[in-house]
Amino acid sequence: MKTIQIHRHGGPETLVVEEADMPAPGPGQVLIRHTVIGVNFIDTYHRTGLYPLRLPSGLGMEAAGVVAAVGEGVTRFKRGDRAGYCTGPIGAYAEAALVAADRAVALPDSVSDETAAAVMLKGMTARYLVRKTFAVGPEHVAVIHAAAGGVGQILVQWTKRLGATVIAVAGGPEKCALARSLGADHTIDSLSDDIAQGVRAATGGEGADVVYDSVGKATFEASLNSLKPLGMFVSFGNASGPAPDVNPGLLNAKGSLFFTRPGLFHYTRTASLLQETAEETFAAIADGFVKVATPRRYALADAAQAHRDLEARRTLGSLVLIP
Ligand code: NDP
Repeated sequence: MKTIQIHRHGGPETLVVEEADMPAPGPGQVLIRHTVIGVNFIDTYHRTGLYPLRLPSGLGMEAAGVVAAVGEGVTRFKRGDRAGYCTGPIGAYAEAALVAADRAVALPDSVSDETAAAVMLKGMTARYLVRKTFAVGPEHVAVIHAAAGGVGQILVQWTKRLGATVIAVAGGPEKCALARSLGADHTIDSLSDDIAQGVRAATGGEGADVVYDSVGKATFEASLNSLKPLGMFVSFGNASGPAPDVNPGLLNAKGSLFFTRPGLFHYTRTASLLQETAEETFAAIADGFVKVATPRRYALADAAQAHRDLEARRTLGSLVLIP
């Protein structure tokens, strides 16, 4: 089978297409033959070594497809079932992968393989952020960075569904217009506007209850300065580089703020948490309050180009690879 490997950390040029034997599932595993593979920003962190990997390594955490074989003891899946996964193992940029059966999710008829690959990791992230990390309600004002991105588009829609006021931050007028079309009440163009000033202006000087910041280094200051007293800083990504170390004294000086650095894996650490998160995410899509735009498609062999486009901020929504 075809697989993308890296032998060293570095730029997109480190991704190489290789041939590997089709693996056979061990006890508790399923072999999933991929039809569509999700591309996520975390894949670029694995590639660069921001999140180090043992090399050589595959890349990719997420794919949808069909169960091609099941290992001993697996009862939840049988050959021919549609299934997906988004919490690894790393190596989804391939024609197939072995996945622990309790880390795979059954795909409902209402969700196509393409939508599943576009939305599992990003939608489940949005779900835990708005329902668990900070339970959003109508009384809240939420700032959402990278609002036209893969996670961002879902976050905007879900936060609106929960009744909050959404201030979307995005790079450029086209992305801001897209965020508005998804329901954002206010938009701030991060390429031309002062983010914290924009948030103050939109909230009558008060500030936001929660900031969902996936940009990291470039927006850390602005996010801190956008919160009202007792506000929650949710730092969940590093698209521009890691956020600086957090000084507890600064959290006090800015208004007894809360700060958290959450990750999807911890919120889906058991099979039941994973299933619950997946079911609620698929239900949001079936219900229609989360609409998933057609993802941008690349051939598996063009994964490097997908990384280039994602890192250059040239994309809206999700990217997928077709094996
Ligand atoms: P996106 O589609 O959101 O792409 C990243 C976006 O970040 C860009 O489009 C761009 O939007 C913005 N950005 C701002 N500055 C930069 C920069 N210097 N370089 C690149 N991008 C920049 O990607 P994903 O939806 O895959 O992921 C979004 C974020 O969420 C990532 O940071 C990812 O790591 C994080 N994440 C965290 C998870 C968790 O559980 N902690 C799980 C899933 C994702 P714009 O031009 O509008 O600024």
